[in-house]
Amino acid sequence: MGEMPLAIRREQLAINYWINLKGNNPEHPTLDILKPSWEKEKKETRSFGWIIDQKTKEMQISPVVPLPTIPPWILPNATVDLTLMDKKKDRRFIFNSYTVQDYINNYYNYIQIYTDASRTSEKVGVSYVIPEFNIEVRKRITNEVSVYTGEMLAVLLAVQWVEETRPLKTIICSDSSSTLISLQNSHSDSRPDILLELQQTLFRIQMMGLTVIFLWTPAHIGIRGNEAADRAAKAATKDQINFTISISKSEVRTIVKQKLKGKWQKQWEEEHKGRWYYRIQRQVGEMRRGGRNRREERLITRLRFGHTSLNNTLHNIQKHDTGQCEHCGQEETIEHVILVCQKYEHHRRRMIEQLGKIKETFSIINILQKEITSKSIRIIIHFFRNTKLEKRI
Ligand SMILES: [Zn+2]
Repeated sequence: MGEMPLAIRREQLAINYWINLKGNNPEHPTLDILKPSWEKEKKETRSFGWIIDQKTKEMQISPVVPLPTIPPWILPNATVDLTLMDKKKDRRFIFNSYTVQDYINNYYNYIQIYTDASRTSEKVGVSYVIPEFNIEVRKRITNEVSVYTGEMLAVLLAVQWVEETRPLKTIICSDSSSTLISLQNSHSDSRPDILLELQQTLFRIQMMGLTVIFLWTPAHIGIRGNEAADRAAKAATKDQINFTISISKSEVRTIVKQKLKGKWQKQWEEEHKGRWYYRIQRQVGEMRRGGRNRREERLITRLRFGHTSLNNTLHNIQKHDTGQCEHCGQEETIEHVILVCQKYEHHRRRMIEQLGKIKETFSIINILQKEITSKSIRIIIHFFRNTKLEKRI
């Protein structure tokens, strides 16, 4: 589809800018422009803050600002056992459910908690299970957060259970290497807020004299606890959302990118479905007039308004029997000749190539909205001239 249309790209930049500001400390001077403008009550002037606010409401974004209550430098590093990760890479080690279970059994005097997260399309479920006590907890969390966020959250829920129940020794098993590595290094790019919450809970647990160790265990090789957590997390994705969590800055960026890409796609499709000139008609009404000559101006105006002498229009006023294209039998509309009909493929390719040279996306709606003297409009005019369609517009 070429490059993202400017308007959508601009929207993406604006939202990313907003996300950055929102994540900053509240005294940031530019935060003032994010306050909804009083103007919106009185007239249609739209402040930046208001427009972005609307857009982010559409997307249910709520960025977060982590606020530490315990100074981060006194937080303990979590104890993380990644031995099984090394063993998996080691060719001399036979890696299966028995040998792995055997390793886990080294922690026989620990309470074992298995955590997991699952994501299917935009739905995310998290879980932890404690086989020894027959405990299974599952939650469906906010849509569209990443699996990593889900895994972090599942671990956090498990740790909160420990804080509440206070067993002396606990081992928390997760198959998410990124979560465990975040814990080990006390660093998380995308969810510093959840990591901080985890560390603070672990700090309080440590203060109570309790031990918590984290263990990486492989998924899908038949470890009973893992499988149970996996099933629970998957089941949670089918529940109603019962645990909301704010979306992080980097997650928002990913979502914004996806959403705007979807929007772009939709715009592209609508154009192909032929509703495009309605939109042009609405937006070009107040455009400045004036072209090189009356003939060119008339051509562009007719394209914009959809009044032509192509067969479809002629058919509408009973001047053509079928309204079909004589070359291929499809309905002969403006978009048919510009975008579809094989007869003009050669000229179409040249047009797209020329538009590419001046970095213009092949989007007829965008182009037809431009000044009649613009280079892009000239390229469109040439297409109609070279295909000899000019006479029939
Ligand atoms: Zn045709």
